[in-house]
Amino acid sequence: MPTKYIFFTGGVVSSVGKGVTAAALGRTLKERGFKVAVQKLDPYINVDPGTMSPYQHGEVFVLDDGAETDLDLGHYERFIDIRVSKVSNFTTGQVYAEIISKERRGDYLGGTIQVIPHITNEIKRRIGLVAKTTGADIVLVEVGGTVGDIESQPFLEALRQLRTEVGRENVLFVHVTWLPYIGATGELKTKPTQHSVAALRSIGISPNMIIARSDYPVDDELCEKIALFCDVDKKAVIPMVTSKVLYEIPLLIERAGMAEYVLKMLGLQTLQTPDWTEWENLVNEVKREKPTVRVALVGKYVELHDAYMSVREALKHAALAAGVEVQIEWVHSADLEKDKGWDIIQKVDGILVPGGFGSRGTEGKIMAARYARENKVPYLGLCLGMQLMCIEFARNVLGLEDANSSEFDRTTQHPVIDLMLEQRAITDMGGTMRLGLYPCVLQPGSKAAAAYGVEHIEERHRHRWEFNNNYRALFEQAGMVFSGLSPDGKLVEIAEIRDHPYMVGSQFHPEFLSRPNRPHPLFVGFMKAVAERAGGKHA
Ligand code: GLN
Repeated sequence: MPTKYIFFTGGVVSSVGKGVTAAALGRTLKERGFKVAVQKLDPYINVDPGTMSPYQHGEVFVLDDGAETDLDLGHYERFIDIRVSKVSNFTTGQVYAEIISKERRGDYLGGTIQVIPHITNEIKRRIGLVAKTTGADIVLVEVGGTVGDIESQPFLEALRQLRTEVGRENVLFVHVTWLPYIGATGELKTKPTQHSVAALRSIGISPNMIIARSDYPVDDELCEKIALFCDVDKKAVIPMVTSKVLYEIPLLIERAGMAEYVLKMLGLQTLQTPDWTEWENLVNEVKREKPTVRVALVGKYVELHDAYMSVREALKHAALAAGVEVQIEWVHSADLEKDKGWDIIQKVDGILVPGGFGSRGTEGKIMAARYARENKVPYLGLCLGMQLMCIEFARNVLGLEDANSSEFDRTTQHPVIDLMLEQRAITDMGGTMRLGLYPCVLQPGSKAAAAYGVEHIEERHRHRWEFNNNYRALFEQAGMVFSGLSPDGKLVEIAEIRDHPYMVGSQFHPEFLSRPNRPHPLFVGFMKAVAERAGGKHA
């Protein structure tokens, strides 16, 4: 069977959930027995989002192979329950970098390098790699940005060409658009959608389906109007009202008959009847009234919740497992340094310090860790959150007053967190951290081992600094347990405090492997401790 392609474009505005829609459709197709792969094309010139500010881009999602990618890949992995590789995300920057290095090598001697065909060919080659490396039956490809953006034009042109090359019967274009609501007249408007479809047509692409996103119910009449003006079947207009429950979207897509229509258009027969039992139970559990627990997320980019997308989702998954509703209190770590935000810290039943870079706000996070340790509040530290938990311990338990990470203080007498040996000679910033999946061995009897229930694990990393082994014995004597180590024993991967309900930090990022139906063990351990503390207080 030839590989089938579904291309997702965005109309009117960005951030209307193109990634979630693609991921959710992917799930409905997987439920029907197909092998599904996904890919995101990012039109910006950066080689990857690894060097971009989270304020610009949101979270950087790290894959098994260490690729630093767009946060939509997190949606793909969580919704479809797959593990994707670096071929699933590329940027204009990567495409140009490849072509320019070939040009310098002399591969095109005598030739003029142009957007068409050189850039578009490279785009098509990279799309083809997904099918080649995964053997997928159906490849879903999402184009970042909105139709009409100058920078996404080469991508759309490549998709147009690809349609002819792989055969029209093997390609489907899905346009995800937004219906604005006019408060004064109380109506939803389709005109911007018509314009964006017209813009797509002008470059030779006629969408086969329209996903009409809206904050308000979209009635039949409106769908008919969109079908008429945009020249698609009425059945091909799928209204998609904003849902409070993220994980309900695959069910909404299922009920809207989208998968059936897609398969019909691609000439495919369902391979198996979808079984939504587990997913429905999950959504019912999300909707069920549960006791609320409060967790402070003490971070540096808290104004933009997308900067901590996977952390937030992992907390929600773990809360489901613990039978509670988690309310995240977003605390700016720099506020804590200015004596602000402590009223929130005092009210929560758990403190989470996520990953981060640079010194801004680190002292506030160290204060939060101290509060958690001294008041026996459950604490989960992710990467930087683990490093700061160690620094706090060094300063306030071991009495090493100026203990720090050499990332924040190059001249500290006590660099309890120091640059990894392999990192010392590296000068390039992009893609040079310790990235991706590494194995770790857990210490029997520890909180980490109890949470995982196994001895060997593999987790995703993204860091340059590590725990300084010169201090290991000192820490251990004072009650810190290094409960996860690299198999050669050289790298500290998990640290925990012995005499505490749950104060655990990991050098890796557990949030990337959490799934709605398979919450991450370290998050579950944390949430159970949080629920216990909250329950104890209320009883
Ligand atoms: N800045 C720290 C390091 O590079 C932590 C990184 C992170 O939290 N992802 O080691």
